[in-house]
Amino acid sequence: MVDLKSFDSFGEVLNHYESFDFGDYLKNVSDEDVQKSLKKEKLNQFDFLNLLSKKAQNYLEEMAQISKKHKIRHFGNVIQLYLPIYVSNYCSSDCEYCGFSKKNKIKRKHLSEEELHVEAKAIAQSGIRHILLLTGEAKKIANLDYIKMAVRALKQYFSSISIEIYPLQTDEYRQLKELGVDGLTIYQEVYDREIYKQVHTSGEKTNYDYRLDAPQRGAKANLRALNIGVLFGLGDIYKEAFLSGVHAKFLMDKYKHIEVSLSLPRINNAEGDFKVKHTLDDKSFVQFMLAYRLYMPMCGINISTREKASFRDNLIDIGATKFSAGSKTDVGGYSNIDKSTAQFDISDTRSVEEIVSMIKNKGLQPIFKDWEIIYE
Ligand code: SF4
Repeated sequence: MVDLKSFDSFGEVLNHYESFDFGDYLKNVSDEDVQKSLKKEKLNQFDFLNLLSKKAQNYLEEMAQISKKHKIRHFGNVIQLYLPIYVSNYCSSDCEYCGFSKKNKIKRKHLSEEELHVEAKAIAQSGIRHILLLTGEAKKIANLDYIKMAVRALKQYFSSISIEIYPLQTDEYRQLKELGVDGLTIYQEVYDREIYKQVHTSGEKTNYDYRLDAPQRGAKANLRALNIGVLFGLGDIYKEAFLSGVHAKFLMDKYKHIEVSLSLPRINNAEGDFKVKHTLDDKSFVQFMLAYRLYMPMCGINISTREKASFRDNLIDIGATKFSAGSKTDVGGYSNIDKSTAQFDISDTRSVEEIVSMIKNKGLQPIFKDWEIIYE
């Protein structure tokens, strides 16, 4: 077990685990190991691994009960709602699993300032006040000035703006923060360096280390919230779940003032013919979400519309804290402006209204706004 606080960067933590045999550890986890971990108030990294193991699949009910208690204690009986807004789908990178890859002949679109307002108004009409701004990695087209323009426009409609764009330098994150960005979402996609290299074949996204350090640069720029995760389907699910969880814990331990959350995206259909080699089935998805919650009771857990409606509904009161609703993954998708190709297919196609009603029927409270920067 390692003391995460003793490392300066998550790259150092990864080096520490480089020779660790995850397969060997996981296959030797016993019922007794899982039961001991479940009795602990504070879990260490081995307890987390025990709960990720196949053996722990026999204890999902117990894990769900503990997870539910943690969730209510730290977050209340609420679900935060947000929506993604894709402002540009140009990309200068090739990622084998993504519909926006440079090599794909798709319909590209880049919103003008005027179109941004139209799209933002269409989203705001649904009541959503937390927005996630996304672009492809096309630094020349969707450059920092363009992102700043988009943030200024979105600020007029939304109380919280997070970004999911190409990684930036600390000072660039700071500049966006000054304009009103308060959150950063950035997924490492896959922590296994070799697989990372195989699936990111050209463009700036090939730079593994620069991406890995981005959440820390966001933290140093004093952003309020960080959301990280892996794209399940690329690497060994157990190792990837463990490393993403430990990455979140590293950030939580190091930057106590920052709200850290995790997402569990699974690969959905996109342009191209990517074949998933490491499937995360529904049961393991639930298990991993619960293991994250038990290892990090105060970590947010974000469940997107990549997942089917019925599946999402079952996660809502056992661990999830954030839900997207009525999402579109194409540029201009909410206002139907000259529609472009979507990044991937979404599974839960319900409207914001329908999601709100489902949340209320479960006895929970949907939250549209819990944050706003007040400038003096
Ligand atoms: S994942 Fe991002 S960088 Fe890779 S192709 Fe898609 S939009 Fe471009």
